[in-house]
Amino acid sequence: MRRRSPVAQVAAAEWETWTSNVRSTQRTNATKLLNGGSVLWPVLRSRIRALAFAEPVHELVVELAIEPRMKEPEMLELRPGCEHCDADLPASSNRAYICSFECTFCAQCAMNLLGLVCPNCLGDLAPRPNRSETLLASSPPSRVRVHKPVDLDRHAQLRAERPIDNESAGPTLLRYVRAWQSGDLAALIGCYDESFTLNYFGASEFAGRHVGIGASLAILAEVSTRAPRTLLSVDEVLVGPEGGQFMFTERLERDGESAELKRVLRFHISGGFLRECWLYEESQALVDHFWRRESEA
Ligand SMILES: [Zn+2]
Ligand SMILES: [Zn+2]
Repeated sequence: MRRRSPVAQVAAAEWETWTSNVRSTQRTNATKLLNGGSVLWPVLRSRIRALAFAEPVHELVVELAIEPRMKEPEMLELRPGCEHCDADLPASSNRAYICSFECTFCAQCAMNLLGLVCPNCLGDLAPRPNRSETLLASSPPSRVRVHKPVDLDRHAQLRAERPIDNESAGPTLLRYVRAWQSGDLAALIGCYDESFTLNYFGASEFAGRHVGIGASLAILAEVSTRAPRTLLSVDEVLVGPEGGQFMFTERLERDGESAELKRVLRFHISGGFLRECWLYEESQALVDHFWRRESEA
């Protein structure tokens, strides 16, 4: 059965005039909208002037007309650049990180300079969600550029004093990453549970499962002595409900030879502690070479 809304019955010319007076129109799924299930509903409910059903009605397209003088709907500010280094961060960028107040930084600054902590509010920095292409015209990104370089020494100090009052995987993993980046060995070791277990793959003598914090720390010390490591950058941090992983770039050195490679640490986390770790290498053969026995060529 076909339904016609009052608007659909208005003469075409009148409809033209009427729509030219409104700031914008949007198409959305009518079923969702009419039963309040649309995410736009709370914002748009009071601003709808008319609904018109397209023909045939089973396509269920609705025209939303928004009052011209209405204030902008509340929405996330998609700022155009990194507050610290001023790098461009267009709305489509997947390199933008924000805090809950929308302070915005590029991935490079967020991960490697700021330790995923906002220098302004000391809240977490997280990847900025994107906005659907179809909504960018009516809900455009911000054009206001905030460029306010961070005092990194002061930030490191504030960050160290910042309490992390959550035992879930994300904060625990970030605490570990920050301790590593700042070279705080005591804080780093404080992230491990007593039962901490380390899994190395490959064919070196270090390959295998090392159970307990004592065995794990001994192996960590041994591999770092044999082929000294330098953390060059943290490239990706991924967090799930029971653990997380991060990818980093490191330089390994031994006997005048050096190599840079990407490595992934995957952690099982519970109760605010790292319980088990698996190390995945960009090139296991290269790592095995650096981890060879003294007697091997
Ligand atoms: Zn930046
Ligand atoms: Zn902030």
